[in-house]
Amino acid sequence: MNRPGAVVIVGESIAGLTAARELRRRGYAGSLTMIGREPEGAYARPPLSKEVLREATYEAHLAYPHADLDLAYIRSAAVGLDASSRIVSTADGRFVPYDALLIATGADARRLARTAQAGELVLRTLADARLIRRRIERARSAIVVGAGFLGLEVASACVAQGVEVTVVDSEPPLLRHLGPFVSERVGAHLTRHGVRLIQAAEHVHLVGDPVTGVALSDGSTQSADLVITCAGDVPAVAWLSGTGLADSVGVAIDERCSTSIPGVYAAGDVAYLIPGTGERASRAPFWSNAVAQGKVAAASILGEPRPHPPRDDYFWTEILGLPVKVVGPLPVNGDPTSIEGDVDAGDAVLRWESPGANPTVVAYGRKVPVGRLRRALVRAAP
Ligand SMILES: Cc1cc2nc3c(=O)[nH]c(=O)nc-3n(C[C@H](O)[C@H](O)[C@H](O)COP(=O)(O)OP(=O)(O)OC[C@H]3O[C@@H](n4cnc5c(N)ncnc54)[C@H](O)[C@@H]3O)c2cc1C
Repeated sequence: MNRPGAVVIVGESIAGLTAARELRRRGYAGSLTMIGREPEGAYARPPLSKEVLREATYEAHLAYPHADLDLAYIRSAAVGLDASSRIVSTADGRFVPYDALLIATGADARRLARTAQAGELVLRTLADARLIRRRIERARSAIVVGAGFLGLEVASACVAQGVEVTVVDSEPPLLRHLGPFVSERVGAHLTRHGVRLIQAAEHVHLVGDPVTGVALSDGSTQSADLVITCAGDVPAVAWLSGTGLADSVGVAIDERCSTSIPGVYAAGDVAYLIPGTGERASRAPFWSNAVAQGKVAAASILGEPRPHPPRDDYFWTEILGLPVKVVGPLPVNGDPTSIEGDVDAGDAVLRWESPGANPTVVAYGRKVPVGRLRRALVRAAP
């Protein structure tokens, strides 16, 4: 077995930390260095929009344990990679050599503000969540730009704290991922809870400096005390400039999480699997996927067979008290092929099956343990 002398992981979060844990679990006793740029170290992001926006004390539960892993830490952003010399450079002037490198730098929130336009709020980090929570406490009205999972969770947090919310998007809520059937019902659920939905004809622009609202393509403007952009994310790849490893989608990886450069691997939100013929390249920026790829990358770094495929299509969210769990690939295609339970009462399991494609199962409002959903998916598989 050919084990690397020094492993460097750039990006201190779930993909990177999972890889570090898996390396140790597989008996790797060599040098393991994590390079991260957030002062808080590795913490869970999913609760930021669910709990942390509502409750400051929840911050105490976010940190991922790591004290047992014998890691060396560098808390400074990676700013460059010299892949021919196998060296990562950091913002504080260090040059960190590696035998194997894992790129796990995740993604940054996509911003809509013009250059130098101040005051745009986004939610990606704990620092973002703290700022938005403080602003929600003082706000009476909010505009959320983006009716995807994150936008609806942020809207839910605002409503829970008595803030009037308008959600603006060029598409109906969750349409892009869960199709028209779920989108219509989620839209009705939001409206029942007092959320105003605006479907813009085109993409909106932020107005004011600092930002005070959004301009729609019909010339009208909407203003609020708080404007939060939840318009997706972009892979954090600036530090890889000049290496040929990254494109506009992210870092391409194969089924072993290997990149195009020997000794360099990637996992999590930053990475995308090289698409099959006729498929579109896209990332799957979900927590379970980052965990799956972290484990696969660790096995590959050690030259061992991968433990499972580098993909785990599981996602959960909660929209104004309505829990939604999804197992299987997104987006779904059209209406569900079977429905068990009462969708309008928020107590149902929906399935999408089509010949030759992997099925998707959604627990809509019904509290189903993820293990049971996964088993339902296996039963539903073609
Ligand atoms: C608010 C919120 C809610 C979410 N809710 C859910 C959910 O309910 N379910 C779900 O499945 N997924 C959810 N996600 C997505 C999930 O959190 C991500 O898929 C997961 O965090 C990806 O992990 P990662 O390790 O790939 O990247 P990240 O968590 O993005 O971590 C990457 C780390 O690398 C650091 N970094 C970036 N560039 C550099 C650099 N140059 N040098 C050093 N460090 C760098 C970043 O600061 C960050 O700490 C949510 C995300 C957010 C933001």
